[in-house]
Amino acid sequence: MATVIDGKAFAQQLRNDLKEKVAALKSEHRLTPGLAVVLVGEDPASQVYVRNKARQTVEVGMESFEHRLGADTDEKTLLDLIERLNNDDAVHGILVQLPLPAHIDEPKVINAVSHDKDVDGFHLINVGRLNTDGGGVVPCTPLGSLMMLKSQLGDLSGLHAVVLGRSNIVGKPMAALLLQANCTVTVAHSRTRNLDALCRTADILVAAVGRARMVPGDWIKPGATVIDVGINRIEEDGKMRLVGDVDYPSAEAVAGAITPVPGGVGPMTIACLLHNTVQQARRIAGIGED
Ligand code: NDP
Repeated sequence: MATVIDGKAFAQQLRNDLKEKVAALKSEHRLTPGLAVVLVGEDPASQVYVRNKARQTVEVGMESFEHRLGADTDEKTLLDLIERLNNDDAVHGILVQLPLPAHIDEPKVINAVSHDKDVDGFHLINVGRLNTDGGGVVPCTPLGSLMMLKSQLGDLSGLHAVVLGRSNIVGKPMAALLLQANCTVTVAHSRTRNLDALCRTADILVAAVGRARMVPGDWIKPGATVIDVGINRIEEDGKMRLVGDVDYPSAEAVAGAITPVPGGVGPMTIACLLHNTVQQARRIAGIGED
């Protein structure tokens, strides 16, 4: 039976540490890190995410600024708001909740956020830095996944990591981080051949495809560490369930360690958002990273 990597407990620990760091920044530097979250439209899942982010921001002692705009907000109004937040000294992190309504140019908005305040790590400068000098802001979901992997395995050097999925927000930055950690990395996607055989060669398997239970236990090398990023809402036995991209019962019997869904990568993503905001507050204030 695999060790369960408890993302919820991990995230709690990270938030506890952040609470202490925020208290120290306040008392020693009179600095309160602030996170602004911008939501355009009424997407129910996005509303839940934004509420959770705001609650956890306040719980660690940071300032939370919420900006809710109607679904018919035009691009210029959104860009003007971002410009104001870029120039607001109380704001150290800006998160624009995605997806944006179809009439708004998403890349344009992402790159309008100052790269210093881009706590999602999606700005082209941060993407470029992740793939070159390894500096800049790292996207939250891959960062949380890497933290759990390092805690579970220690040094990742030489391990073969297979990343299933090549999105800009998960697959690609995850692959970049694993490469930086000296893994041998294979990125797989919808055109990859012999996916099952490829996955069986992985010491580390990161699944980020968005397909419920796509990876069964017999795709997993015995003892491998499995990070299940997927969040899929399915209806089963008349109930709505949240399941990952990995078939948990069969995978748990083969893997060495595995993240559950829910309670794995998800909680770490928000905790890493707070972590990134604290880091950026320090950088902007010239205090340096801790
Ligand atoms: P995307 O839809 O942007 O990307 C999915 C990737 O999976 C694509 O690269 C696609 O390949 C690949 N893919 C799709 N079907 C297959 C297949 N049958 N075989 C192999 N590869 C396939 O998704 P995201 O990266 O945004 O998200 C992935 C999952 O992670 C989702 O379930 C999402 O909800 C979840 N997620 C969870 C987060 C968390 O906090 N835990 C945060 C962000 C996402 P191709 O490029 O060829 O189309």
